[in-house]
Amino acid sequence: MNKSKGFCFSISILVSLVFISCGSNKLTIKDKMVFADNCVVAHRGAWKKMNLPQNSIASLKRTIELKCTGSEFDVRMTADDSLVINHDTEFNNLTIEKTNYADLIKFQLSNGEKLPTLREYIKAGIENNISTRLVCEIKPSGISKERGSIIGVKVVELFRKLHALNKVAFISFDYDILKKIKELIPTVSTQYLEGDKSPEQLMVDGISGADYHFSVYKEHPDWIESAKKNKITLNVWTINDSADMDWLIANKFDFITTNEPELLLERIKFSAVLK
Ligand code: MG
Repeated sequence: MNKSKGFCFSISILVSLVFISCGSNKLTIKDKMVFADNCVVAHRGAWKKMNLPQNSIASLKRTIELKCTGSEFDVRMTADDSLVINHDTEFNNLTIEKTNYADLIKFQLSNGEKLPTLREYIKAGIENNISTRLVCEIKPSGISKERGSIIGVKVVELFRKLHALNKVAFISFDYDILKKIKELIPTVSTQYLEGDKSPEQLMVDGISGADYHFSVYKEHPDWIESAKKNKITLNVWTINDSADMDWLIANKFDFITTNEPELLLERIKFSAVLK
């Protein structure tokens, strides 16, 4: 791997120990954090190879063991305002936004875990972890835009309380949630998922990264160079095929989100051997 050229340069220097700066309600992050020098983001944790439930604490722990640079997960809010980790709008046929937390946790994940709360997930994610950032997807609310914004603020506040802002990148399909987060913490990583904004537009709006479906980059190949020029980080989902991985590695993406983190780690090693 040619580190000097910044191949998959996922080392990010961030700052911890959050404080509220004088005369403003903006948060600053202090304290340096260096993440694993690879571009692998495990999509909903590293669940597939070990047959773990997606978005489980076990899949997060497995990602940390693998020393991936990121572990992605999805946050939703229950009817009684608990933040929980689940991809789908429903959990065991119960709509999360319309169900109270106590009713949701009557059902377990397939490995016997309780449906994790965000608090439990962050705590597990900062324990014995010096390599893996928490890639936190804030799902838009199906009830209202306003509720989505409230969820965004609550999520940020919890990361702040748990001194974990130095380990997180926020991602969302809801542009306004990301803009709100950027307002609160100007230095935190924010990555937009929808794929309908050019890197120039992201830069103008203060969003720090593009995290788009693979097809978006195929449709707009110029966005890859443009992102690099505008210092917009490049992430892509969800890449499970080795030929696609090789193409993205060759194009020096900062992050590649995958259900096959073990395979991607192998492809990175292989590409380094070829250099
Ligand atoms: Mg997600």
